[in-house]
Amino acid sequence: MKEQLIKRNDVPLEQTWDLTHIFKDEEAFQEAVDHMTDLAKQFKSNYEGKISQINETQELVDVIESYQEIMTLYMHTSGYSYLATQTDMSDSKAQNRLGTISMLGSQVMSSLSFFESELNVLDNDFLQQCAEKSKYRIFLEDIIKHKKHQLQPETEKVLQALQPVMSLPDNGYNITKLSDMRFFDFEANGKSYPLSFVQFENSYQVHPDTQVRREAFKQFSKDLRSYQNTIANYYNTQLKKEKIMANLRGFDSVFDYLLENQNVSIDLYHRQIDVILEELSVHMRKYAKKLQNKLGVETLYYSDLKAPYLKEENQTITYDEAQEMVIAALSILGEDYTNEVQRSFDERWIDWAGNLGKSTGGFCMSMKQQHPYILLSWNNGLSEVFTLAHEIGHAIQSVYTNRRYPNLFETKQSLYTIEAPSTLNEMLLSHYLLKDESLTQWVNATMIENTYYHNFVTHLLEAAFQREVYKCVDLGMDLQADDFNRLFNEQLTKFWGDSVDLDEGAELTWMRQPHYYMGLYSYTYSAGLTISTVMAQRIINEGQVAVDKWLNALSETESQKPLDFAKLVDIDLSTEKPLQETVAFIGSLIDSLE
Ligand SMILES: [Zn+2]
Repeated sequence: MKEQLIKRNDVPLEQTWDLTHIFKDEEAFQEAVDHMTDLAKQFKSNYEGKISQINETQELVDVIESYQEIMTLYMHTSGYSYLATQTDMSDSKAQNRLGTISMLGSQVMSSLSFFESELNVLDNDFLQQCAEKSKYRIFLEDIIKHKKHQLQPETEKVLQALQPVMSLPDNGYNITKLSDMRFFDFEANGKSYPLSFVQFENSYQVHPDTQVRREAFKQFSKDLRSYQNTIANYYNTQLKKEKIMANLRGFDSVFDYLLENQNVSIDLYHRQIDVILEELSVHMRKYAKKLQNKLGVETLYYSDLKAPYLKEENQTITYDEAQEMVIAALSILGEDYTNEVQRSFDERWIDWAGNLGKSTGGFCMSMKQQHPYILLSWNNGLSEVFTLAHEIGHAIQSVYTNRRYPNLFETKQSLYTIEAPSTLNEMLLSHYLLKDESLTQWVNATMIENTYYHNFVTHLLEAAFQREVYKCVDLGMDLQADDFNRLFNEQLTKFWGDSVDLDEGAELTWMRQPHYYMGLYSYTYSAGLTISTVMAQRIINEGQVAVDKWLNALSETESQKPLDFAKLVDIDLSTEKPLQETVAFIGSLIDSLE
């Protein structure tokens, strides 16, 4: 009995997202592309060499607005092309279009790079004055801040033109993983099972049958290993690129370079990783022991860690049922919020089909002046309901900020808080499910298995690994597959101690996540979850007052620095306290498991 995935062409329409909301057809898309290139040409001929002479606030605001229009068009055309590739990575027509648009985009950006270079010539007082008087405060303050790291105009232009080459590591990684990687069938209990990257991540690694889970991991690791040098090469190239950019732009270390855009200090970054490594590992080792007993296995392997804690209650949930659950769980946030959630279902913002060649989801992509899009691969598990609630959290956050700040340059989100609105919804979903007492064990186990495991353990280990990698990079070391394997293994050992036996292949985990191509992203998952853990308790206990605060903060997520954002909901992230409270909360969930 083989579970076969269907081809993209055979997916029913209602399971797909509706991209015609961005462009109604190919012609409209092409028109937008042409419009963007025309506007860019005009912009260049109107303003090149003239920006430094601007001395009126309104004049500068008008230029920013014209620039913003071009960037918004680029965001829509590239976003549209990108989304079209994600539902079927083997669709070469969609890949070509994305390639063409990113090539064109880099030409446009390169031809307009004079703008930011010339803005740098304007004096800080004038820029600051414009920042305070216009809605482009964030954009202009960024210009002031980045001034000292800006290179000569000609150099910036060259770097812009090279953009498609700069994104090679990321693209190469994804294409290798999603189009080229082949996995062989494996056998367990005398049956043959087909294997793919998505199937392993979504089904087999969480399979309740120990033999299926372990055999799947064995085969998956074996096949994954044959790509380790290819992937290591992409990763190493990414690291070199970042180190070179950090040097060119005058940063002391690659950490400073990567953290600059997040508006957080290096202390906060280290504290986030250190506190969790040290304090959470104590609780997670206890969890490993409990899981070992529950599974009735002599040794708990790495490949067992994602096994469902409660085998028997691994129920099937349809997508329709999931929609109802999510609406009911989020109704505590009020009618306005749930109306938006309902819209996301009714207007097909979500692509939830499970088909061949689909990107490993889920993700949510937000764009200004458009509704967000969500990608999922529905597998009928309860954990998928959590993923749905999670992605909905990202989506509605962008709906709220777009309402208050409709323009591209009015806002900029720090990665540091990006996961707060999404994980808050997971908390509310679990709170809703806990109303049914018979579900307590199951919900608490699910919260650990999914929400906290994913955000606090998986991503923390990535972050801890990444930190070691960048330390080597700062020392000028050149890293290969063996080094990545060794560094990953060290972090796993440090965290799990002897509570888990690391079966062969555990060290390859660094090959599985695209996060390493996104800078210092992984550690932010736990930051967002810290805010949401504390906030969810308050929404549940205080009701409307806390809800109002949260919805207001939601509209401001992208306009605030991380610490200021947390302050809007009365959380002080400059201390260890919220983090320790969250770790203690995870500990209490683990203690509640029988
Ligand atoms: Zn997320």
